[in-house]
This record gives sequence, structure tokens and C-alpha cells, in this order.
Amino acid sequence: MERMIYFDNSATTFPKPEPVRRAVGQALVYCGANPGRAGHRAAMHTAEAVYRARCTAAEFFGADSPEQVIFTPGCTWSLNTVLRGRLKPGDHVVISCVEHNAVYRPVSALAAEGIHFTAARIFPGDDGRTLESFASCMKSNTRMIVCTHGSNVFGIRLPVEQIGVLAHERGAEMVVDGAQSAGVYPYDLKKMPIDFLCCSGHKGLYGPMGTGLLIARTPLRPLIWGGTGSRSADANQPEEYPDRLESGTPNVPGILGLAAGIRFVMQKGTDRIAAHEERLMRRLRQRLAQTGGVRLYVEPEVPCFPVLSFNVGDVPSEETAERLDRAGIAVRAGLHCAPLAHRWMGTAEQGTVRVSVSAFNHPEKCDRLVTILKDWTKSKKTS
Ligand code: PLP
Repeated sequence: MERMIYFDNSATTFPKPEPVRRAVGQALVYCGANPGRAGHRAAMHTAEAVYRARCTAAEFFGADSPEQVIFTPGCTWSLNTVLRGRLKPGDHVVISCVEHNAVYRPVSALAAEGIHFTAARIFPGDDGRTLESFASCMKSNTRMIVCTHGSNVFGIRLPVEQIGVLAHERGAEMVVDGAQSAGVYPYDLKKMPIDFLCCSGHKGLYGPMGTGLLIARTPLRPLIWGGTGSRSADANQPEEYPDRLESGTPNVPGILGLAAGIRFVMQKGTDRIAAHEERLMRRLRQRLAQTGGVRLYVEPEVPCFPVLSFNVGDVPSEETAERLDRAGIAVRAGLHCAPLAHRWMGTAEQGTVRVSVSAFNHPEKCDRLVTILKDWTKSKKTS
């Protein structure tokens, strides 16, 4: 593990910043009482720490209030909360053709309840055509557009703000899957046509695994019901937020670690992190393009988040990833939980090798990956 080069940051960032590790440890030592469940000082202390974490997230995303910030176990949970909490039989949903299974599977499951979806084709580098494509999928009963901000396979950035304007013009709500964009995109929700932003806490926000966020700007039915420490005599779930959507004891070490991760991003600056990662990706892309037999899938001028897919000729993506793993480089191969994106790109059989970077990666490590690939392809040719 020590000398591993980690390029699987789209799955979860690693390493975590030192302040995040410290915050998790300190939570276990100093915030050990259950927040909001008692009036004693220890419980109040934890509740205050969780509230500060909520304020940090609200400030970072430009939410209207801390109460709009819902802590969840991950982006998948956040997306399910919105889909299940808002849609009803007879509704129609538009998604994109590159959605992760975190969107694709719940909307597919909703078909059994009479809620149907259409997947809009995207046109990388041509926002106008992408927008027309979304517009052509809208129906009179379209209640919602659910769309990833960035493909977790190809990095392609979708024009979610323009799509949000379209949704609102047609009387629908806009849900953004920010799993790959949070931490490298400057969200200011007060100025954006987004009703629900769903993100992981453990990717570009550098929090621990098992953390996520939902910024809910519109009321929702809960996904689960239970104790909140508030209005305990009432059989109904409280109407107030965040209690309505946060039943059960919260993951306090995770939440405080996530807040430390968000502060890490705020201190470094989203724009500086994004610029660093973009430089790494550009360098990697250029060098891979000069490596015989390597196939890239997205033109260099297409706006992307720091995620890149490639293949070496017809070699199964898993074989390439295994070769890199043996050389100490962690990349992901296969379908990356996004079969729709692969069907659209024509890579459903081979899958792709995915490289995704974080603030902790260095340019020399990108070069190392290319050198290993070059040596390998050369040795394959001669053997
Ligand atoms: N959406 C996208 C685009 C993703 O890349 C991922 C995770 O890789 C998810 C959703 C699910 O995120 P989580 O693991 O936080 O539930």
C-alpha cells in the first residue's frame, strides 16, 4: 500500500487529508454522545459539532440554509431519497445516456410503480445539441430531469445549468448527481437552477467512505422513518428539516470527517484543485495519445472532470488494469457501474481502463503509468 500509485479517486479519494483523519479520530474521543437525543452536555456538544458541519456544507454549496443540508451514507442514498421522495405513479423522468447505476437502477425499479423514464443522448462538446436532445425527451408528465454533472467513466461534463433552465421552463425539477463534480466545480446553489444536489462525501470532498450529502431545496417524502430526537410523541415523521430526512443515529465520525474534507477543499480552493487535476489529465492524455495502440474516447477539447478512460487495442480492460496493478498502479477496469455510458460509447464488451486523479497526485506518476504501458505493449509485440 505504501508505494502504491492510486488513480482510482473517482471511486473514493485516497489518501484522505490529515485533518480528515484527525477529525474522525477526535470525533470518537470527544464527540461520543448521541447528538440531539439528550439534554446532557456531552450530547449537546456532539449536536453542536454536527450543526457546525452542516453550516460548513451549506456555505460550501451556497445552500439557502444549513437545514437544507442532509447527511446521507453516500450519493446513491441521496439520489434514492429524491427519486422515491418526489415521484408518484404516472410521472415521467428524463435522465442522460451516461448515468451511473445510482440513477439508472432506481429509475428502472420505479417502472413497477408506473413511473417511466427516457434517456437523453448527449453530444460531447456541443451543449446546444445536448440541450435539444433533453428537450426532445420531455413529455407533458415529465416531473424531473435527473442528470449526472460528469460521467464517471469518460469524465464528460454535462451542461447541467442549461438543462436545469430547460427543466424549470417545462415545469419539471432538476436533480444533479454531483458525485464526480463536487470538490472540483464551484457550486453556488443560490444562483443555480438545481432543486436537489446529490453528492458523495468520500470522493472530491475527501470525507470518509460511507458519507454523502443531499442539498434539498424543496420538501421531500422521507426514504426511511424513525427516531430523530425531535417531536418524539408524534407517530408521524417531523416536518422540519433536516430531521425529516435524517432518522436514526447519525454517522458522527463520518460527518465530522466530511466537514474537515470540505474545509480542506475550501482552503485549497476548488478552482486550484480543479486546475491541478486538469493539468494532470492533459499531460496523461497527451502522452497516452502518443502511445501506440492506446485508444482514447473523448476529444481533447471536450470539457471534462478529471476522469479518463482508455484501452490498449482489443486487450480486455481488466487485463490492462491487472498489469498496472502488478506494477503498483491502482486503476479501475470494466463497466464502472455505468452500463448505459458504455452502450452509448460502444465499450460495453471491453469495458475501459479508468484513471481518476485527486489533489494528491503528481505529474511524474502519470508519466510512470505511460512508461509501464509502453514497455508492456512493446513486450507484447515482441513476444
Ligand atoms: N453517481 C456517480 C456518477 C458516481 O460516480 C458514483 C460513485 O462512483 C455514485 C453516483 C454513487 O456514489 P456513492 O458511492 O457515494 O453512493
